[in-house]
Amino acid sequence: MTTINILDQNTIDKIAAGEVVERPASIVKELCENSIDAGADRILIEIEEGGTTNIRITDNGSGIAASEVRKAFLRHSTSKISDAEDLFSVMTLGFRGEALSSISAVADVEMITKAKEEDYGTHYRIEGGRESTLEPTGAPDGTTIYVRRLFFNTPARKKFLRTSITEAGHVQDTVLKLALSHPEVAFTFYNQGVIKLQTPGNDSLRDTIISVYGKESAKNLIEVDHHRDGIRITGLIGDPGLSRGNRKCEHYFMNNRCFRDPLVSKAIEDAYRPYLMQHKYPFTVLHLEMNPEDMDVNVHPAKLEIRFRNKSLVYKQVLDGISEALSVREMLPDVSLAPKAPVTSPVPEAVPERKSEIRYKKEDVPKDSEAAKDFFFEEMRKRVNAFHAEEQAVSYRDTPRAEAVKMDEIPEIPEPAKDKPAQLSFFEDKILTEEKRKDFRIIGQLFNTYWLIESEDKMLMVDQHAAHEKVLYERLIKKIQKENIPSQMIMPPMVLKLSLREQQLVKSNIHEFEKMGFELEPFEGSDYVIRGVPSMLSELSDKDLFAEMLDSLEEAAGMSTYSMSMDHRIATMACKAAVKGRQHISVKEMEALTDELLTLENPYNCPHGRPTMIVLSKSEIEKKFKRIV
Ligand code: ADP
Ligand code: MG
Repeated sequence: MTTINILDQNTIDKIAAGEVVERPASIVKELCENSIDAGADRILIEIEEGGTTNIRITDNGSGIAASEVRKAFLRHSTSKISDAEDLFSVMTLGFRGEALSSISAVADVEMITKAKEEDYGTHYRIEGGRESTLEPTGAPDGTTIYVRRLFFNTPARKKFLRTSITEAGHVQDTVLKLALSHPEVAFTFYNQGVIKLQTPGNDSLRDTIISVYGKESAKNLIEVDHHRDGIRITGLIGDPGLSRGNRKCEHYFMNNRCFRDPLVSKAIEDAYRPYLMQHKYPFTVLHLEMNPEDMDVNVHPAKLEIRFRNKSLVYKQVLDGISEALSVREMLPDVSLAPKAPVTSPVPEAVPERKSEIRYKKEDVPKDSEAAKDFFFEEMRKRVNAFHAEEQAVSYRDTPRAEAVKMDEIPEIPEPAKDKPAQLSFFEDKILTEEKRKDFRIIGQLFNTYWLIESEDKMLMVDQHAAHEKVLYERLIKKIQKENIPSQMIMPPMVLKLSLREQQLVKSNIHEFEKMGFELEPFEGSDYVIRGVPSMLSELSDKDLFAEMLDSLEEAAGMSTYSMSMDHRIATMACKAAVKGRQHISVKEMEALTDELLTLENPYNCPHGRPTMIVLSKSEIEKKFKRIV
């Protein structure tokens, strides 16, 4: 017979901890969020061995009053909400009251904290949920938490930890996200005693980005500021020059909270699609703001996901915000004949080492466990005092921005110099205008593929295939958007097996599919039959196109008819139909192509994101001939 057990509190806590504490990075996230909620504007994070043996977070926030310390470590204890109503207005990062209890259930946790209003601080220690110290102590305002021996009492979980290097990488990613979501807080992150990340905390997103990605990155940043329908999107995004091979640099935050959402990533990537090569991902740091009542942040134990009341609106605003920002820039890739400095440096240059780094040697730790506790406490006290002594010497809070920059040697952002080819993409006055077109002089065709054009003091080099492809693509898209696409019957018809959800999607979007040239009919049971496909895409239409379109409809919650899979097909068609490289075309044809190209909103990239043209300045050429230096 099966017996049903009621679990004891210790087991319950360990299970709950599993949801919040997956790895050292989750601890760092929770503790830093607590510091931010406590109003800290300076946070120091130190880890050793990837955070598996030691994590220490020190802040200059409000601290915890002596009478509250023990409560803070109880499950579901929080000072941030008092009932379920509050869940929909919560502006703090934490509110579930689980972090401290979860962390202390699976590690050895020690805290020194002092509330500003009180004369004494508190020293508290709790190991695997068992309290061992609660005593008053002298301490500066703020909180230090020391987390050691992660998963010492849950060896099964410990096995899931990766190497120290991998875990440290996760911690660094977490700190980076926190820093980008809170430019008003100065973060310092040490791994194994070496500074890995430091931000100025001067409330400038740009300076924060520079401190992390290096000053070169600043040259390629575009500002976003878009406010519509109750959603505000601000931030900085990279021009295509900052694109990456993975999604790691797609940062976005909602009300200063880090979250993940495939739909937001999709909106970002869709907006960049005309400008980026395939398999390239953009650089973005976007701050979204919305009324907290329009979302539910309490759907994931680590608060990493948000449920939106209207997710297609979020998609649309992100897409529009970025598209607008990108379209005002002229996206001409610069060609510098000189070698260029690398665009990113993950670690800021010349970050001053902080004196407060106090490290102990393993052999100094007493063997006797009581003595070891005292040793660690002493070591921690020194640490806290040093942190605060330094804080007085370097007060970030009262420092004007310019000076704060100077102090941390965050490199100044150079003004783009107008005569340098590396900054051509920043030219305020556009090269490609219909006005300037009059002065274009087509010099001729090079290698049967490229066209050389003189325009004022610049030389444009146009890739005939990319340019033609772009023009054809835009023509097709316009046609699709303006008029219904005629349908072309196929023999034999294609039979589709659809899930219940897919059937609903087809039913509710049947008109849109018809407008696109599909002819659909319900068939036996759950099947549908496709009798006609878009005529212009007939040779590229197959079941996959339809299935891809259905998938994208599902992802985007029935958002729009125009799907990316369609887009992809159109791009392929345009590519097939366009003149190729190594094909002779006449000057007349080139003239016509140039004219049509210039009427496009984005003439700079082909549908696959490759540039249609590059530009070289006269001064760059003269430099090569040493006419000027
Ligand atoms: P939550 O953040 O969801 O409230 P936690 O378990 O993370 O729950 O923290 C419990 C409480 O402890 C917080 O509500 C807060 O009052 C207090 N607290 C935790 N960390 C700090 C800190 N660094 N500074 C001040 N108060 C803190
Ligand atoms: Mg918290």
